Amino acid sequence: MVEKVNPKVIPIRIDEGKGLTPSVGAQLLAPHGQTLDKRGRTLHDLRISVTDRCNFRCTYCMPKEVFDHNYPYLAHQELLSFEEITRLATIFSTLGVEKIRLTGGEPLLRKNLEVLIEMLAKLSTPQGVPLDLTLTTNGSILRKKAAALKAAGLQRLTVSLDGLDDAVFRKMNDVDFPVADVLDGIAAAQEVGFENIKVNMVVKKGTNDHEIVAMAKHFKGSGVILRFIEFMDVGSSNGWNMAEVLPSKEVIAKIHAVFPLEPIDANYSGEVAQRWRYVDGSGEIGVISSVTQTFCHECSRARISTDGQMYLCLFANEGFDFKTMLRSGKSDLEIANAIMNTWSVRDDHYSEIRGSHTANLSTGSRKVEMSYIGG
Ligand code: SAM
Ligand code: SF4
Ligand code: SF4
Repeated sequence: MVEKVNPKVIPIRIDEGKGLTPSVGAQLLAPHGQTLDKRGRTLHDLRISVTDRCNFRCTYCMPKEVFDHNYPYLAHQELLSFEEITRLATIFSTLGVEKIRLTGGEPLLRKNLEVLIEMLAKLSTPQGVPLDLTLTTNGSILRKKAAALKAAGLQRLTVSLDGLDDAVFRKMNDVDFPVADVLDGIAAAQEVGFENIKVNMVVKKGTNDHEIVAMAKHFKGSGVILRFIEFMDVGSSNGWNMAEVLPSKEVIAKIHAVFPLEPIDANYSGEVAQRWRYVDGSGEIGVISSVTQTFCHECSRARISTDGQMYLCLFANEGFDFKTMLRSGKSDLEIANAIMNTWSVRDDHYSEIRGSHTANLSTGSRKVEMSYIGG
């Protein structure tokens, strides 16, 4: 068994409410606008991992050889409770966060997740705009859960699916899970009223790149927005290799040759997917080119791991310990202040310097796993 990567945990330096009054958000947002990190980036987007466990063993994320029955998953008491998650999210919402994505591991495996969704769905920005609340799932139990998620107030949904060829997909998820059941989960979500569902396909050259056009054809005109993600070197166990990355521009070329495409504008500044629409008006697709066209310069995302550490980059190897703050009687004001202090010294831009970091892996600098930090 490959050893678990133990991320470095950084205790929070508490700057006792310096310069702040109890109306935290209002004070921090005005009069200077939002706090910027060292590269001038705002905090806009929060990803929360609600479990480090999953019922799939996707080879690019939780390879079986590492995530076997000996793997030290977090114990229940180490997980943030729904109340702790909601408290943190509420504080983040006062600091400029407008979008929350629940992820994991497989988020639908977290017991009573709809209760958490109901709690988070009540949050809004200081201006009173409801937060954009969404979730990424492998779709395996979506048929069972879709109605409860919708009723709880989940606004949007992303489902991961790496191809339509059943043999290829079963091999990629490595637990022999059939394509038909994920498609049925997507259908269930549409039936209960989810619109503009996104489907994420991780493209691995030589493994599922022959499925690109078939996937485009299948979802074209269905209202589902298909997004192709370049295979990334997340974590330290997925055997990443540049030779298996298919640049997004080649994905676009393959589809364009069959179904003509044209580029469209981003929905908002900092959106990671580049958007394209079918010239015949039958919908849009997106590409996320984290390897070949990096977007660190506008990355406005923070991540909360399953056990309450804040990570400032998907490729980080250290987290900031907010669970201890939550469990040691700190006030909202102290926590808000610690978040902004941490954000203000953020300098992460891993994808821009990937080459040198990949070289560092051989010298022992290991990154935290995506299933723990939240994809
Ligand atoms: N289990 C859920 C799922 O698969 O949708 C949510 C968590 S998963 C870590 C979130 C997203 O990250 C998925 O769309 C998955 O395909 C993507 N992902 C995982 N490992 C990846 C990798 N090495 N490169 C690119 N995307 C990856
Ligand atoms: Fe599980 Fe999602 Fe990772 Fe696949 S990508 S192993 S479904 S967490
Ligand atoms: Fe953001 Fe880190 Fe990804 Fe760059 S590498 S876009 S900083 S998460």
